[in-house]
Amino acid sequence: MAVERTLSIIKPDAVAKNVIGKIYTRFEDAGLKIIASKLVQLSQADAEGFYAVHKARPFFADLVKFMVSGPVVIQVLEGENAVLKHRDLLGATNPKEAAAGTIRADFADSIDANAVHGSDSAENAANEIAYFFASSNVYSR
Ligand code: UDP
Repeated sequence: MAVERTLSIIKPDAVAKNVIGKIYTRFEDAGLKIIASKLVQLSQADAEGFYAVHKARPFFADLVKFMVSGPVVIQVLEGENAVLKHRDLLGATNPKEAAAGTIRADFADSIDANAVHGSDSAENAANEIAYFFASSNVYSR
């Protein structure tokens, strides 16, 4: 299995709930290494650019509004099969449908405030990582 990288964002709802450490522990316990990390307040332009793929969706404006409603924690995770492994840790987009024990089942309240973002493919992960981190700020080990 290939060592991959994925982009993960702890969204404003989970940061406000003070569960950054609990979520990081789940990543580490699953064998994912945090190789870049920052706590930031996204600007409107940051959030719109990041979610540009969803621009035509009815929830786009509310999603952007939510993502700028408070600070987020953005990290790059590295490990075997990292993209799928991270998505499995998150669970379904809608926390009501997320499997028991997943991050969204345990920490998210709704489909829009769903605790953590995760890249959905290795190709998208590469683009999303480059969107937020200069390669000199990613520390593979
Ligand atoms: N989203 C939303 N309403 C919806 C569907 C999605 O607010 O009906 C938000 C939600 O925060 C989700 C993000 O848009 O995480 C991106 O949607 P996607 O379908 O890519 O879900 P994900 O890959 O995050 O599970």
